[in-house]
Amino acid sequence: MNSPSLSPNHPKSEAQHRHDVCTVGRWMYERGFIVACEGNISVRLDDDRILTTPTCMNKGMLEPQDLVITSLEGRQLCGERKYSSELAMHLLFYRMRSDVNAICHAHPPTATGFAAAGRALDQALLPEVIIGLGKIPLVRYATPGTAELSDALEPFVPHYDALLLANHGAVTCGPDLLTAFFRMETIEHFAKILLASELAGDPVLLSTREVAKLMAARSRYFVTPPPGGGAELPETSDTTDSSSGQVSLSRSELDALIDEALRKDRNRH
Ligand SMILES: [Zn+2]
Repeated sequence: MNSPSLSPNHPKSEAQHRHDVCTVGRWMYERGFIVACEGNISVRLDDDRILTTPTCMNKGMLEPQDLVITSLEGRQLCGERKYSSELAMHLLFYRMRSDVNAICHAHPPTATGFAAAGRALDQALLPEVIIGLGKIPLVRYATPGTAELSDALEPFVPHYDALLLANHGAVTCGPDLLTAFFRMETIEHFAKILLASELAGDPVLLSTREVAKLMAARSRYFVTPPPGGGAELPETSDTTDSSSGQVSLSRSELDALIDEALRKDRNRH
């Protein structure tokens, strides 16, 4: 089913926001970003009201009346069902960033695989990802739905629009729900491509110079970076050599270098 009201370019009624949240829940479920009762979505309705998904329901099968409205402090204002325990993570974004009006949280399997392996998605590999998100850092593990998770997230929230949560999943924000959803799609798509490039060989990262050109092009693509301004750049082909002067070799590369040196030495004598 199409959802014309998801277009961010006009003001929406509460009914339209409810419809949009159900649509994005269905998209996340259909794409396999969530299963069973996982994930949660929210939208800022106004200065003090957040519309969000209920706990213990499949987010792909929601009806508009299943949604819950809370205050910015997490007090339930409207709705029969209870909101998710992970709402605290959403409220943290809304409180810290006035530019954020929507949040998606899901467990997309490839990206979550990287998060479970302790790996950020921070390689300068694809121009679109660099322009749109910069990099996707990994937030240290904390029990879902606790203040500990909010504490772990807090330093990242002003600087990034998409985050991996170690051993858990991913969270994205946006000025509107469609943008937050696209960022979730981008994370999973990037994770799949990175995995494919690692299976195909060694991923060839872009250089710092190329990344700088992409960052400079952001305004041309109407990308507004997060207001914190302290985002780190993704890892580039020259990051490691220039910063530490160290080179890393695999065991076989080291053996090959030693063999070659011995052979040259033998030839000389
Ligand atoms: Zn979760």
